[in-house]
Amino acid sequence: MTTKATNIHPVFDRILGREDKEQFLHQNSKLIWMTGLSGSGKTTIAIGLEKELQKRGYLTQILDGDNIRTGINKNLGFSDEDRTENIRRIAEVSKLFLNCGIITINCFVSPTIEIRDLAKNIVGEEDFLEVYVNASYQECEKRDVKGLYKKARNGEIKNFTGLDAPFEAPENPFLEIKTSEMTPEESVEKVVNAILTKLIKDSKVENK
Ligand code: ADP
Repeated sequence: MTTKATNIHPVFDRILGREDKEQFLHQNSKLIWMTGLSGSGKTTIAIGLEKELQKRGYLTQILDGDNIRTGINKNLGFSDEDRTENIRRIAEVSKLFLNCGIITINCFVSPTIEIRDLAKNIVGEEDFLEVYVNASYQECEKRDVKGLYKKARNGEIKNFTGLDAPFEAPENPFLEIKTSEMTPEESVEKVVNAILTKLIKDSKVENK
């Protein structure tokens, strides 16, 4: 039996789309893209944001080095080519989560405007909320959460963002958080308020 080329195969006809998923979850998905130096506070804020959103009934997913670099991207290094491929795959994975109606929170240094534009173009501008988690190199080096700054200073890490590889600040982010000027709790509160306002403003489904 042949099917006309113009006919959609019945299997594809049955796959539920983003709107179906959003209705099901009673939420609209967005991608919150945290960018900033290592140790600037991306993960800290993401964890707090996720907890606060969950309390209010929103389903979220955090993507970070821990669940991406160890899995889907474990074959990638830190050359320019690999950094680009890393972000491309992250953006494609984020798109799958968005299509599932899930609010996705990404924590990646993503140091250049070009690399973040790549992600924005894959995901679509409307869903891409860029949060610039801003702390100076000196401040992050003082925190040195993962001991990376010491290693970079000793020459054990090459192309370290902020030292011998550039970090380009976003020109027009959705939100900027200067983490050296406030407590982690204050940072989280600021991001939560901005995201909730945006979610409610853009909501196409019945609000929570
Ligand atoms: P990143 O994910 O950007 O590499 P982390 O969240 O792992 O950074 O580490 C940030 C560190 O900075 C944590 O130890 C956190 O407690 C500290 N910190 C201090 N002030 C703030 C703030 N206002 N917001 C977020 N983190 C802060």
